[in-house]
Amino acid sequence: MTITEIRSTPESLWIDLTRKCQLECIHCYNDSGPTGDHGIMSRDDWIDVLDQAVTTGVHHVQFIGGEPTLHPDALDIAAHALDRGLSVEVYSNLVHITNAWWSFFQRDRASLATSYYSHDPARHDALTKRPSHQHTRRNIIKALKLGIPLRVGIITTDGHDLEATKRELEALGVKRIGVDHVRPFGRGSEGAAPDVSGLCGRCGDGRASIAPDGTVSPCVFSTWMEVGNVRETALKSILSAPTMRDARALIRAEKKDDNPPTPPVPCRPDDDGCRPGIPPSWCGPRR
Ligand code: SF4
Repeated sequence: MTITEIRSTPESLWIDLTRKCQLECIHCYNDSGPTGDHGIMSRDDWIDVLDQAVTTGVHHVQFIGGEPTLHPDALDIAAHALDRGLSVEVYSNLVHITNAWWSFFQRDRASLATSYYSHDPARHDALTKRPSHQHTRRNIIKALKLGIPLRVGIITTDGHDLEATKRELEALGVKRIGVDHVRPFGRGSEGAAPDVSGLCGRCGDGRASIAPDGTVSPCVFSTWMEVGNVRETALKSILSAPTMRDARALIRAEKKDDNPPTPPVPCRPDDDGCRPGIPPSWCGPRR
């Protein structure tokens, strides 16, 4: 597909459940943390959105946040997505995974993704601002032992220790390892206004994101580019409306001199081109 071929019908959605997280990463792309909340979308709102998504042609959803497993209804909502035939990836920090979640991840079409900052616990923990390295590493090992599909994104600010961190993950048995850089959004922007040029350019192309308050945006990074709200308007109407088309055009215009366009692989949440931290993951959330 060329950059001129834009899919207006989404095949995949980010279910951006919450702004609550146990961690407080210095680079978090949407300012999540311990004081974050779950927004105003109810369990039934999310279930309804998933039902609409299925009839709209979506086949893959990624649960993300914040830490999606902290949402009190997340397991129920994610199970509904699987039951409706969607493939479901949960992007978790893997700090604390309950037995119920481990059971969920072993179901067909369920998978896990996480971020890893360094093989060096001190460096990893300096970025997450919590002693999280030991927990994330332990749960990476557990996921592999249980045979759960797992991909790990190494998020780097400067490439420091990148090769050593890759080698450690490979030695643990991780097969799908990506590398992403910190994105200029949320805390990663260091106070600057959102910059459209920090997006991959494929936002809204066969994908969209729904935030904890129901707002829809072209992708999980571009949450300030609201194109509608699923609490007020049907998902299909939002995705096919001129507002969405204009948002896509604005984003693409920022990439018009990008030849070849970034990323050089399709940027889709349901393939290796646009899952957080997957190479060449110019479009992956920095988590
Ligand atoms: S980057 Fe991810 S793990 Fe870190 S605070 Fe944000 S949502 Fe939590």
